[in-house]
Amino acid sequence: MITIKNAGQIEKMRKAGALLYEVLQGLRREICPGVTTRHLDHCAESMIRAAGGKPSFKGYNGFPFSICASVDEQVVHGFATGEKLRQGQLLSVDCGVILDGWQSDSAFSVVVGGGDAQKQKLVDATEKCFWLAADQARAGKHLGDIAYAVQSYAESLGYGVIRDLCGHGIGANMHEDPSVPNFGHPGRGVRLQAGMTLAIEPMISMGGWKVYVEDNDWTYVTRDKSPCSHYEHTVLITDSEPEVLSYPGMTVREALG
Ligand code: MG
Ligand code: MG
Repeated sequence: MITIKNAGQIEKMRKAGALLYEVLQGLRREICPGVTTRHLDHCAESMIRAAGGKPSFKGYNGFPFSICASVDEQVVHGFATGEKLRQGQLLSVDCGVILDGWQSDSAFSVVVGGGDAQKQKLVDATEKCFWLAADQARAGKHLGDIAYAVQSYAESLGYGVIRDLCGHGIGANMHEDPSVPNFGHPGRGVRLQAGMTLAIEPMISMGGWKVYVEDNDWTYVTRDKSPCSHYEHTVLITDSEPEVLSYPGMTVREALG
């Protein structure tokens, strides 16, 4: 069932989104060669709890961490570890918060310490996929318009669009209907309405789209071991411009320049 949020619920999701934005900005500042993803996980959990929130990932179906930290060919659901990050690794960080009963979900990727132009191009393209998709998140459009925006841009650059994992509705629960795929046909699927809140999350690989799950039963990895990038925000559909709840103040128009 797709839930339509009222003004009071949206205000709570806005607050959850603003907290998550601050947490992810804090994590971005911590990331450099030599830092461990376990450290980033501790930082995230303490920032969330200090603000009165709860890390939504921790304990979700038994997931052990407050963030997912996925390195290079890991697509999503990577475990935080004590291994030191190295320059040039592509790190994706995904995090979710619950504040006052309402959820937000957001992810970003970076090249640790910079220095890898090809991976940086993939990271930038994945962000652009998100913003092109968010531009379609308008009342009267369809889920297929979001999907097609991601797929057509990513594939025009020769990248692979991960198909086994999708975005999702979000609200009082982290995963709600509908499923929001990153591939599909324009004009197809659920018609979007004001008050819907969607986590839109392109996962784009430098190679093919096929994946498998590691022995920990959580972490998705590209079959061809090509690096993968992830970018996600929680988006509110309105009667006018889409509102990116987990990136306060940023508009689609500004992001797409
Ligand atoms: Mg996420
Ligand atoms: Mg998500």
